[in-house]
Amino acid sequence: MKSNLTCREAQLLIQPYIDKELDDRSCADLLEHIRTCPGCYEELETTFIIFYALKYLDNDKNSSYNIRRIFQNHIRRNEQQLRRRSITRIFYYLLLFVTELLLLLTAASRFLPGFLPFL
Ligand SMILES: [Zn+2]
Repeated sequence: MKSNLTCREAQLLIQPYIDKELDDRSCADLLEHIRTCPGCYEELETTFIIFYALKYLDNDKNSSYNIRRIFQNHIRRNEQQLRRRSITRIFYYLLLFVTELLLLLTAASRFLPGFLPFL
């Protein structure tokens, strides 16, 4: 999947990304962009740290966290989720296609006897 985002477009997606408001496509575009753009990566990381890390630190004051690692894990998890969802979507459409094909063949064999000798 190729990212066509400019830095300006990527930066507009950062806050919605943090707020979990992006659809899969925009999310994938943003993650693709930050992989090759250090400036936007840093901006996303900074925004992430402000909005998320404080929450982690608030919830567990006794632990020390590596905020950068939390961010990297977060990005990795999101990328895995996107990959899983796109694989699931491919299987769904494949299943749909096979189901429709079977329906079509069943209908064809009913209306055209001898069309498919094995049905
Ligand atoms: Zn950029």
